[in-house]
Amino acid sequence: MEERARSCLLRFRHRLEQDIKPSYLMDHMVSDGVLSVDEEERIRTQDQAVALLELLLKKDNRAYISFYNALVKEAYDDLASLLQDDLPQMLPDAHNKSSDGSVAYVQAVLSEGGVPQRPVVFVNRPELVNRVREKLYRLLKEPGWVTVFGMAGSGKSVLAAEAVRDHRLIEECFPGGIHWLSIGQLDKPDLLVKIQSLCFRLEQSLDSQSLHRPSNSLDEAKERLRFLMLRRYPRALLILDDIWDSTVLKAFDIHCRILLTTRNRSLADSVSGAKYEVEVESGLDENKGLEILAKYTELNRLPEEARSIVRECKGSPLVVSLIGALLKEKPNRWDYYLRQLQQKQFKRIRKSSSYDYDALDQAMAASIEVLPDEHRELYKDLTVLEKDIKVPAKVLSVLWDLEAEEVEDILEEFVNKSLLFVDNHNKPYQYYLHDLQLDFLVEQNRTQLESLHTKVVHQYQQHYRDGPPTSGDEECLYWIRFLTYHMAKYFSFLAHHVSVGVCIKAQIMGPAHLINDYVEYGPILDKEVMRSQFQEFLSLNGHQLEQRPFPDVVQLALSEPRSSEVYRQALLQAQDRTSAG
Ligand code: ADP
Repeated sequence: MEERARSCLLRFRHRLEQDIKPSYLMDHMVSDGVLSVDEEERIRTQDQAVALLELLLKKDNRAYISFYNALVKEAYDDLASLLQDDLPQMLPDAHNKSSDGSVAYVQAVLSEGGVPQRPVVFVNRPELVNRVREKLYRLLKEPGWVTVFGMAGSGKSVLAAEAVRDHRLIEECFPGGIHWLSIGQLDKPDLLVKIQSLCFRLEQSLDSQSLHRPSNSLDEAKERLRFLMLRRYPRALLILDDIWDSTVLKAFDIHCRILLTTRNRSLADSVSGAKYEVEVESGLDENKGLEILAKYTELNRLPEEARSIVRECKGSPLVVSLIGALLKEKPNRWDYYLRQLQQKQFKRIRKSSSYDYDALDQAMAASIEVLPDEHRELYKDLTVLEKDIKVPAKVLSVLWDLEAEEVEDILEEFVNKSLLFVDNHNKPYQYYLHDLQLDFLVEQNRTQLESLHTKVVHQYQQHYRDGPPTSGDEECLYWIRFLTYHMAKYFSFLAHHVSVGVCIKAQIMGPAHLINDYVEYGPILDKEVMRSQFQEFLSLNGHQLEQRPFPDVVQLALSEPRSSEVYRQALLQAQDRTSAG
């Protein structure tokens, strides 16, 4: 449902709940086909008005319109007039892209499915977009795979998001919605968590209140997803962004409709069903490259270096955008950036690679180089972030031991230079690195990873020496999810085994305790079995820690098998609690 319509329902929800008699309204909605008989029956068993509104909020524009019409038919004129101004535009010319209603509809579907927005500076690649759309239309009648492949930074993700930004395509091919999942390089436990989160998201959008227990294994998660897609989201499209590994793809081999982006063309060989592919050229043609530079620098006449820059990086959308962003800040550095690109001073450590990353690296190096020395050091600290993970400024203020305002200024600088991205949909703003930037940082700082992770752990310990963050703190969620990760990296690099046994304790007692414990007991807690049990427990339950209010970790852990170390530790904690009153 459009944002405007949903907001209107929320605004008047209370009044509607008080004044409507749902049974007649529901009859109209059922005959409009926006409410199923099952849903109607379920609503009848509850506080009907509340349940109807609750369900309506999860539905689409058509449901809003049908509800409005039902109000009119049942002579609730004053209530109908409340909703009237925000009626979504389902005009007969809705297919016309220029109509506001159509744009809003597409926007609503895409944001509901987590599809990223266009980059601020965007150039259209109509031929490529059409090629992808044409393949997507082949999924109209039967499930299958569309692989969008190409080198790093060639614009695959932007293209995938753009291809589905089309009213007709959504309506005709994917009325079940478009659901975006960022994958990246991950291991099996991470994959399990991803699929669980996806199922969780899909279930949340339905009316079901019941939360399933998380699946225990990848196979189980796969079955759950299969069931959801088949029964509840038929004809939906899943977009899997940045796949590296065929085992990941196999987990999604569930006879549904999938668009995937990858650097590896042959990935889909390992799965069954109809397959189509689109190659993304690594570079933009010269005019498009120049268009990006012109948009960033707001120049009508570009200097002659512009053409050389685009040629030098072979039109890589990523590099041109990075340099565009740099030039926006320092408009007189055309010659300098061109020379930076030409001097291939940076040697890649990665050996086997079918892609030419050189230009990318140089552009990245160039953009980091313009930072003042002390900021370059701070940027280096970001090497320890996980892919696709967004952090609030507060976490960085702990990491850097700087005042909030100073951190704000530094982050702003990074964002302006395209070195960092910001998600400003919600407050507090969240920051994240582009995958390639992170790859680049990790590669550059490979020998220092251990000390960088150590720094996080120490800064954390220092900052929270008087007590851990509380659940109301914006940064708390990050620490709950990732402190163990930083510690694991830190310790595994020290060639110790990671005992996650103490990590669970962190979630119960506050991680400051844990760090002390860890330093003290680390060497004797290194039993492999125990480690894997805790890791598994965390990966299975990790997503629940994203909920608010936070679940009781001890209770979660007590549902583990009695023979497990997780259970034993939780029992000890529970006994401690009881004896402490
Ligand atoms: P890939 O998925 O191939 O690694 P992305 O789609 O993430 O690449 O694009 C990398 C960067 O290149 C984006 O962050 C953006 O800055 C730039 N970019 C890609 N496509 C476009 C485009 N059509 N217009 C403008 N910039 C683009």
